[in-house]
Amino acid sequence: MAILVTGGAGYIGSVVVEDLRAKGESVVVLDNLVYGHRAAVDASVPFYDGNIGDKDLVSQILREHEIEACMHFSAFAYVGESVEKPQIYYENNFVQTLHLLDVLIENNVKKIIFSSTCATYGEPQYVPIDEKHPQSPTSPYGWSKFMVERALIDYDAAYGLKYVAPRYFNACGATEKHGEHHALETHLIPLVLQVAQGKREFISIFGNDYSTSDGTAVRDYIHVSDLSQAHILALEYLRRGGESQFVNLGIGGGYSVEEVLEAARKVTGKNIEARIVGRRAGDPSQLVAEAKKAREVLGWNPQFPEIEKIIESAWTWHEKHPNGYD
Ligand code: UDP
Repeated sequence: MAILVTGGAGYIGSVVVEDLRAKGESVVVLDNLVYGHRAAVDASVPFYDGNIGDKDLVSQILREHEIEACMHFSAFAYVGESVEKPQIYYENNFVQTLHLLDVLIENNVKKIIFSSTCATYGEPQYVPIDEKHPQSPTSPYGWSKFMVERALIDYDAAYGLKYVAPRYFNACGATEKHGEHHALETHLIPLVLQVAQGKREFISIFGNDYSTSDGTAVRDYIHVSDLSQAHILALEYLRRGGESQFVNLGIGGGYSVEEVLEAARKVTGKNIEARIVGRRAGDPSQLVAEAKKAREVLGWNPQFPEIEKIIESAWTWHEKHPNGYD
């Protein structure tokens, strides 16, 4: 039987596809290539170019392959854009996911691993953030993911759909073959590395007046390989008959923007110029996971907790692929 991976041509999905195959799993990828890259998926993997909400296409995939479970990565994920264009976020991330779930359930595919996000928590009331932290997203992106979470709870109760929904903190880093390549890059580490590569003059630090040790915002950076391993463990957990779960995927410790920059200077040996600018709207001062549950429930044991190692892997990939997948 095979695993259907939506968004398998994207940053996290492509790493999970690689790791699933390394474990001997059969994989089928569905990706509309709006943000994904065809070159990120090995040519030997069955690949369907289309939308998750295209019920005819998903039905066709389920006829052509014996699908055991779905890992659902595909989504729009720009927080700022979601504020300006909420319609496409609710449509793509929520409505189309419901169509996907319809077809899965109709065909008796009752295991799903759904990419959720720490953005469903909104402004933290306390850190580290555990899974019981109240959820009050501050963007349509966060709400669109939250609404899928809500649907999953009800679909489990009514239709027996079992899920693990990891809530990602800050995914970063690269494997040898797969790295971060976004048409519009907004994430800190890839932008910092663009400065190191001379593609960008400086990095803007969004605010140095937060109540953190050095005044810059703190995030929980998690290596994409560690994220990927958690998905494989989640699949095994569901195969064992595990109950549905929401789990934070973060390391459980944070680094400030200044600390990330310092680490990047060390790793690259470049003097990365930084300029302090104002805070970015909607940025909380600290997002750090309480990460015990993933360890306890899934048996997850992250291998790359240090920021230097994470940046080193990303730097190696960017040096080898200066134009990403292009
Ligand atoms: N950040 C920054 N300059 C940039 C991009 C990001 O100072 O050019 C900061 C941002 O304010 C946040 C952290 O870096 O505190 C991580 O941002 P990113 O966009 O990578 O992830 P987010 O936490 O927003 O999901």
